[in-house]
Order: sequence, then C-alpha cells, then structure tokens
Amino acid sequence: MRILMVTAEFAPLAKVGGLADMAAGLAAWLAAAGHEVRVIMPAYGVTEPPQLRPVTLAEAPAGLEVFELIAPEHFGTPPVYLGDDRDAVRFALLGEAALAHAHADGFHPDIIHAHDWHAAAAVALPAPWHPTPPTVLTLHNIGYQGIFGLDALPDGPLREALRDPTVVEPRLNFLAAGIARATTLTTVSPTHASEILTSEYGAGLDGLLRERADRLHGILNGVDYDLWSPAHDPLIEHPYSAENPGGKADNRAALLEALGLVVDDDVAIVGMITRLTAQKGLDLLIDALPGLVAAQECSLVILGMGEARYVDALRALADAHPGAITLLEAHDETLAHRLLAGSDLLLMPSRYEPCGLTQLYAMRYGTIPVVRATGGLADSVQHFDPLTGEGTGVVFRDYDVGGIHWGLTQALAWHAEPALWRQLMTNAMRSDFSWEKQGPAYLAVYSALSGAVSGAKQD
Ligand code: ADP
Repeated sequence: MRILMVTAEFAPLAKVGGLADMAAGLAAWLAAAGHEVRVIMPAYGVTEPPQLRPVTLAEAPAGLEVFELIAPEHFGTPPVYLGDDRDAVRFALLGEAALAHAHADGFHPDIIHAHDWHAAAAVALPAPWHPTPPTVLTLHNIGYQGIFGLDALPDGPLREALRDPTVVEPRLNFLAAGIARATTLTTVSPTHASEILTSEYGAGLDGLLRERADRLHGILNGVDYDLWSPAHDPLIEHPYSAENPGGKADNRAALLEALGLVVDDDVAIVGMITRLTAQKGLDLLIDALPGLVAAQECSLVILGMGEARYVDALRALADAHPGAITLLEAHDETLAHRLLAGSDLLLMPSRYEPCGLTQLYAMRYGTIPVVRATGGLADSVQHFDPLTGEGTGVVFRDYDVGGIHWGLTQALAWHAEPALWRQLMTNAMRSDFSWEKQGPAYLAVYSALSGAVSGAKQD
C-alpha cells in the first residue's frame, strides 16, 4: 500500500512527546513490512527558501521517505508549537502542502493518515485528485484540538473546512473538523477509545465521537525496541537484559553519581519522565508529595518541562526535601534513557493517558511502572499478583492522594522483597509491545478502507 502520513512530530527530527516516537515507529514498521510510506512534516527553525525537501534518515528502511516542509515565514521559529494563532496558519499549511505535494509529485496514496489536530487539515480538506483516497485520523491527545477564532485563517475553503462542527458559535476546531470528515478514526489504546465517548474524557468531542463510534478503533502504540532496549541502548552506560539484569545496578549507581545523590541501596529511586501538565497528574502529585516523602523510603527524580505553576511548586518541594525530591527541568533524550535505566520505579499518576509510552519503555528497562488505571496505562500494565507471580507493575484506580499513596506503598513493599521484585522485573522486561505486535492492527484498518489488500472496495 501507499500511505501518505502527515504529522507535526517525527523522531528524531522533531519531538515534544510520544507522538514523535509513535509516528516514526509506525512509519518505519510499515515500510519494513513492504509498504510505501511518505511522511510530510514541518522543518522547524529552518530559514531556507520554501520547498519540500527529502530528509535522509540513518537506517531508514527502504520504502520510507520523509519530506520536510520548509516554510521560513511559518516554521522558521524553532518551537514545534507556538501556542497562539500562528499555529492555525502553520498547521493549516501543513495539511494543505502535504496534499498539494502528493498531487504534484504523482504520489497518489491508498491511504492518507494524519496525526492529531496539527495534521487534521489533510483529512478535512478534499484531496485535489480523483478518486479521493480514504483517510485515517489518529487521536493521540484530544486535550489539544486546535481551537481558534475564525479570523485566525483568511476567508476561503480551508477556513470553511476547519470550522468547528460541534458548536453554534463560528470558530475553528481542527480536530473536530477532522473527526467529522475522516473516513476512519483511531486512538492509541482500546480503553481510551471507549473513554473518549464519555463526557468525562471526551473533552467536548464525545457527542461527535459517539456519532462516529462505528468508525473509531483503539490500537495500542508500539515500541521501537531497536531504540528502547537496555541490551543495546547506546545512551546508557551499562547494558543489561532480562537474562542478564546485573547492569541495572550499575546504571543506578551511575545515575546517582551524575545527579550528586547519595541514596542507600534499599531505597527505591522513583523516576518520572513527563511533560509537566495537568494531564500527567501534576496537581495530584504536588498534593501528595509531602505525605509521600514523609512516609516512604524513596527518592523521586523528575525529568520534565512544562507549565510554570508546576515547575515552581516542584522546585519548592525539591528545595524543602533535598535528596528525596529532585527536579531536572530539561528536555534531554540521553537523560531520559539514563533515568529509565537507573530508576527502580516509574510513576505515572495521569489524569488521562491515551496510550503513554514511558511506561512501555520502563517495563523493558526493568523499571516497574506505578500507574493510574486509565487509557493505555490500564491496557498495558498488569497489576502484579504475588501469589501467582504474574503481572508487570502496580495499578491504582482512584485519582486522589489515597490512590497514589496506595500505589507507591504497594510498590515499595514488593521492592523490599528481593525474590518478588526479581519476578516482577523479569515479567516487565519480557513484556512485548513491539510494532510487530501492534502494527498489523493499523494495516487491518488501512486494508478494510482501501481494498488494496482485501480486494473489497468500501466507502
Ligand atoms: P506524551 O506524548 O503525552 O508526552 P508519552 O508517555 O506517550 O507522553 O511520551 C512521552 C515521550 O516524551 C517519551 O518518549 C518520553 O521519554 C519523552 N519525554 C517526555 N519528557 C521528556 C523530557 N523532559 N526529556 C526527554 N524526553 C522526554
């Protein structure tokens, strides 16, 4: 199949969060499986004359082509997201340019696959050729919809295509427009696919999504274990694996030394690698932290950037509890890998989590996830049962201080029992969320739509 993929992020070229890893992992897997995948993404911070430029990626499988949209007037300023009305113009351009490029280049795909609101214009606009191909819109995070006043875009067909169909007031809503017009919708876990049909998790789009529920599929994200395996991760100092776990202790020691922390061997290092936003449970964490550090033998290390109110609160807590709470305010890929390898636990108290990748990575690194039962966290982490020896982490249900406290207390109780902990680590490290397992579900969606493989033409 020929697939045109449109995305604002693609690892390692531009990454803010999991979208970048997912888009790159899925595209690479599809190409390795024999499909023709063309990715269109913006070139951030590039001020050369406007063009679509092919990018050479190290070790890209044959069949994968990535084109960067160079548009200095719009994407010449480095951040991926500017967070104001300019983003309306920027990402409308991305969708429009992707379609125009495919047409001009004669790359008429069997499927157009757009990721999140930033790429939704590519499915909200009709493709400029016939027959118009079926489209897939993947909802990675419906907390971000691309809502703007109507005058954020000049009057015209593009603006009409991106109008919000869910409200009477005239405004733009890229994601809602995409949801209304895409042939098929996917989101990044089965549990989240049902959650977003409810008013609690639907972020105002649940009504629209319920109308299209028969077209909505939940497919858990895959992991590119070439990049995320402690056995051959070039960013960590000591390789290890489920069969040979000894190196984990060395990574822990190296991490502590690098951070200037002195922590006893039996005290658990609890890592967090996260955007500092409400979605990730920061309010809950900040409420719970004083009680957690008073009651628990653990040292929390947070690697994250985000909203100033959370940075300030965490900074104050870290100052008040040196050694017990460490804040690393940075976006640092190497540190992310080293924190995964060096921590004993990974905490994700998310308010909502469409899929979550960090817990999937953590499991492979033998770092036990402590997660709230929501979305992809519920679908990927199995609460450990010491009687059967089955399970890969700790899952707590309630989004409140009692919930997070219970989860961490449970994890630390098991951590204190070496035989149980070894079992839990082995289970986690052997869990498999590879694209080889998750990717075929996307192919099934594409095939049903395009008829290219199934032979059956559907609308
Ligand atoms: P989301 O996409 O909602 O941010 P995910 O768990 O799906 O959450 O993906 C987060 C991705 O971003 C992971 O690859 C994680 O390692 C990475 N990440 C998050 N914060 C940082 C940071 N401060 N430094 C480096 N990588 C980070």
